[in-house]
Amino acid sequence: MPTELDQAVSWLVASSKTIALTGAGVSTESGIPDFRSPGGLWTRFNPMEYATLGAFRRDPEKVWKLFAELQSLLDARPNPGHRALAELEAAGGLAGIITQNIDGLHQAAGSKRVVEYHGSPRTLHCLACGTGYAASDIETLGVPPRCTHQVGGQVCGAILKPDVVLYDEGIPLEAMRGTAELLNGAELILVIGTSCETYPAGALPQQVRASGGRIVEINMEPARGLSPDVRLLGKFSEIMPEVVAGFKARRQGFPS
Ligand code: ZN
Repeated sequence: MPTELDQAVSWLVASSKTIALTGAGVSTESGIPDFRSPGGLWTRFNPMEYATLGAFRRDPEKVWKLFAELQSLLDARPNPGHRALAELEAAGGLAGIITQNIDGLHQAAGSKRVVEYHGSPRTLHCLACGTGYAASDIETLGVPPRCTHQVGGQVCGAILKPDVVLYDEGIPLEAMRGTAELLNGAELILVIGTSCETYPAGALPQQVRASGGRIVEINMEPARGLSPDVRLLGKFSEIMPEVVAGFKARRQGFPS
């Protein structure tokens, strides 16, 4: 009888296209509490009061109390699980990652193909004139940062919005396109650190299954919204490196 880990590794080796869907659980081991857990962001900032486009348009200075905390996520460091996923991609075992996280830790770990399903605070836009900014540009602009673009000889001056997806906003077109490309022909999806209760991202594993693919779950606790083919319970930072080591060892035995 193969162990669950062996089974997951066998499928990973056999799969011609594997993708990953990640959520808050991969970042908790980098010191970022799940927004919905006790002490998390949503216990301090009611998302319906702060995290909507309507709230931003009504009172951008107030909503920047939340945005300022999102910018601080960019100081977090990737953990061994993030690095293992980047290694798996480099070894040809992973086509890409769809992440619900906005902390940029997959990219910081070296992952190349990352679809940021809920956007990113690393770039910002002016909703008044459309000018884009990098988070590094706004360090000198203060909080809340205001648009410095000149419109008809006058400075625009509107308060900038980070490119994170708020509760009343749709998934960015670019993320939808990237997700469709990754899902197309995927034979295996690794579902990591997510309870699959947030839609539409939570429905992506079922789309892989509907086209004949398999689901491997890696979570601290079983995801309520998911019925995986194999479930590996434990820490992402420990399990993911084991899976990738298993993949590399097994694949050496196969002609490439
Ligand atoms: Zn502007």
